[in-house]
Amino acid sequence: MFQRVFIGIGSNLGDRRDHYRRAIEQIAALPKTRIVKMSSLYETEPHGDPQPWYVNGVIEIETEFTPLYLLQHLQTIEATMGRKRKPSTKKWAARTIDLDLLLFDNQTVDAPTLTVPHPELQNRRFVLLPLSELAPHLTHPRFGVTIVDLLAAVKDNKKVLLLPPNA
Ligand code: ADP
Ligand code: MG
Repeated sequence: MFQRVFIGIGSNLGDRRDHYRRAIEQIAALPKTRIVKMSSLYETEPHGDPQPWYVNGVIEIETEFTPLYLLQHLQTIEATMGRKRKPSTKKWAARTIDLDLLLFDNQTVDAPTLTVPHPELQNRRFVLLPLSELAPHLTHPRFGVTIVDLLAAVKDNKKVLLLPPNA
């Protein structure tokens, strides 16, 4: 059975848009998976330590993978695109590509390597804004409020700037 899933994509090293595009190509090439919708791209001010600004966006897919298998595939794509994940690497460190599993149908997952919905979704304007383009009225399975409600309430004041399609 196909499930409706949202993936957050980010890049802040090298040719960020090219990394973003190639990540989508690789997700589209996965078996049992198809791309349904893509948000606009945003240029976003980083959280955490000083580092380059990100290009961020969200895609909607349909997949027959389970959440844990999908995470494995996303991590393989991150690895083949040159993201180095070392034990010492801090969260929020600069990266060629970051693929976050945001929502998996209306499921919740609490596994050692995977929390769904993504535990920071409600705290990140750079996720909520592109997600609100694709699924404004989708209800968060833990909080019982919609994406637009979360966006209206988010305290994150880091800049999130719409990128023109051909800039
Ligand atoms: P962040 O994206 O928050 O900067 P990372 O991409 O380095 O951090 O992810 C760190 C770990 O988060 C991964 O090893 C992964 O197992 C775990 N993780 C837990 N929940 C999720 C999720 N929903 N999507 C992606 N990774 C997740
Ligand atoms: Mg991540």
